[in-house]
Amino acid sequence: MGFEGQRRHSRLWLQQILEIVTIEAFQSDDDGYLRWVETNVDGFVVNCYRNARPGYRMLHRATCRTIKTPARKNYTTQAYMKVCSTDRAELEAWARFRLGGKVTRCGSCNP
Ligand SMILES: [Zn+2]
Repeated sequence: MGFEGQRRHSRLWLQQILEIVTIEAFQSDDDGYLRWVETNVDGFVVNCYRNARPGYRMLHRATCRTIKTPARKNYTTQAYMKVCSTDRAELEAWARFRLGGKVTRCGSCNP
């Protein structure tokens, strides 16, 4: 690969890194998670098993009542973690890659 090719390659790599940081994962951090959904009301949340174990993957809007009611406080501390992004396509791509398939859309918030 020549110099030009290498440059193109690293630019693509950098772009991928920048895309990755648009996704935030919250595990054992309810305060951080709740702050994120309050700040990013037009964002999206994937609820999945801790450590991004493949299997369950439910996509919600950040405003969904089922993932941010003040009555509960175990969003990221028990069986589940929350993965958040304002970029829905990016989040769905992440779920396919890390959780092994397409997300299920929440029936309550219809993302
Ligand atoms: Zn929902």
